[in-house]
Amino acid sequence: MHIAIIGNGISGITAARHIRKHSNHKISVISSETDHFFSRTALMYIYMGHMRYKETKPYEDHFWEKNRIDLVRDYVHSINFKGKKLQLKNQEISYDKLILAVGSTPNKFGWPGQDLDGVQGLYAYQDVETMEHWSKDLKHAVIVGGGLIGIEMAEMFLSRKIPVTFLVREKSYWNGVLPSEESAMINRHIEAHHADLKLSTELKEILPDKNGRVRAVITNKGEEIECQFVGLTAGVHPNINFLKDSELALAKGILVNEYLETNIPDVYAIGDCAQMQNPRKGRRPIEAVWYTGRMMGETVAHTICKKKTVYNPGIWFNSAKFFDIEYQVYGDVPAKLPEDYKTLYWEHPEGNRAIRILYHKNTNEVVGFNLMGIRYRHEVCEQWLANKTHIEEVLQHLSLANFDPEFYSTYEKDLVQKYNQQNGRELVLSNRSSTDAVAFFLGKNTQSKADIQQGMKRNLMLGILLILLSFILPFLFTVKLPIMIVSGLLVGLGIGLLLLSFSQRQVLSGLE
Ligand SMILES: Cc1cc2nc3c(=O)[nH]c(=O)nc-3n(C[C@H](O)[C@H](O)[C@H](O)COP(=O)(O)OP(=O)(O)OC[C@H]3O[C@@H](n4cnc5c(N)ncnc54)[C@H](O)[C@@H]3O)c2cc1C
Repeated sequence: MHIAIIGNGISGITAARHIRKHSNHKISVISSETDHFFSRTALMYIYMGHMRYKETKPYEDHFWEKNRIDLVRDYVHSINFKGKKLQLKNQEISYDKLILAVGSTPNKFGWPGQDLDGVQGLYAYQDVETMEHWSKDLKHAVIVGGGLIGIEMAEMFLSRKIPVTFLVREKSYWNGVLPSEESAMINRHIEAHHADLKLSTELKEILPDKNGRVRAVITNKGEEIECQFVGLTAGVHPNINFLKDSELALAKGILVNEYLETNIPDVYAIGDCAQMQNPRKGRRPIEAVWYTGRMMGETVAHTICKKKTVYNPGIWFNSAKFFDIEYQVYGDVPAKLPEDYKTLYWEHPEGNRAIRILYHKNTNEVVGFNLMGIRYRHEVCEQWLANKTHIEEVLQHLSLANFDPEFYSTYEKDLVQKYNQQNGRELVLSNRSSTDAVAFFLGKNTQSKADIQQGMKRNLMLGILLILLSFILPFLFTVKLPIMIVSGLLVGLGIGLLLLSFSQRQVLSGLE
């Protein structure tokens, strides 16, 4: 069987790797962008000089031949679904099964001047090359759109000290996704990085110079801003234009059922380009993020090679960076608080770190976490959400989720204090959790609590005994030096056992 995959991004490549794991089918991956798979999320680091292109490739170039995955660098113009043939620029390819993993493309809203030289989005590898090209002699860049890619573009230019003006239609940055406090934090942070942030401002027109390159933009407020580059980062949409005049069922993206099957037999769609016909509760029909592409790739490979498998995206997760502020979201954290949810929000006095926990008003089950400038353990948050854990249990054991032992006690204490104030409670934090306690919580430790308790007592007794013995020995024997050496060793061993017993005590208290 020949499986053709259009798209060598995370979704297409994950599908190819897993098909190879499960089968000996012939696999061809076609892409017009690059010869090899690279990490799209690392594009900004190439421009900033932190990484070279070859370092963004997760696999060595010989990996593909070794795994019998044929790479075809070409563009698919059209698909003959009845005849199962792909029409490429330079050849025709027949397939038995087809996976569409064609990704996204930046939005353009018909702005006058949007196709001028020096006006572009940031999506493909070639976009970084053109950014590089236009950066020579660049005095001022304007970025249009307040999302995650816009802020990356701003960071790229500012890393080269190129001044940036940001035009954001909304009243506050990314406030369609972030609750108001977090959104306000990002507004402040953008300004602290000396980007000129213009909120409630839209692009009206892009003006050319005599050579057809952008020379200025005009906003809806009538302001003219001189610039030699305009970044269009007002979101992305599925890259399905070349499929429009076919019998494939399309909406915003390629419509798929829960098995990622399209309306045409033997044709599947995965990743950014796929639109779920019936998304799960709390999930969007199109989720243009890295890890869902990977999960879809794995699922479709399973369906093709083993048995039909339902795509289960698990608990929603996303992460990004706003300059130095790391952002993580787990579960359901809408920008506007629904009636049946309560929120617990704590912000560091410096205004650059925050924790938000959402929970159900009636059941007190935790439904979501939003973290700014603080990182929590993915698996721990996932488990709390999947188990619909009570907010108070989560709060008491927050240290299980925390990566940052230097700071966490302060933050957690503050958060618990805030909860107590809001709810008239007197919750107390449990002790700091060691990595063993985390492993226990996640069910990765095979020892029982009783085993640890027993081990703790044994080590304590033995430690004390050895230290006592080391003091008695010199009085029992007359030979001085060898006895002193033996005593020293016994003291060392005794202290080691006491420390071990202490750490076991910590594990136990973290689990209480
Ligand atoms: C700058 C940037 C930063 C990002 N940061 C994050 C992040 O931090 N976290 C996160 O979760 N997500 C992030 N994303 C989104 C994430 O990268 C995408 O969700 C993911 O790469 C999509 O993978 P995919 O396999 O569906 O498609 P893509 O990676 O888009 O791959 C599709 C490939 O198919 C090729 N193709 C399309 N049509 C054809 C055709 N007709 N013929 C031949 N080839 C074709 C395209 O050229 C492309 O190479 C970021 C995206 C960008 C652009």
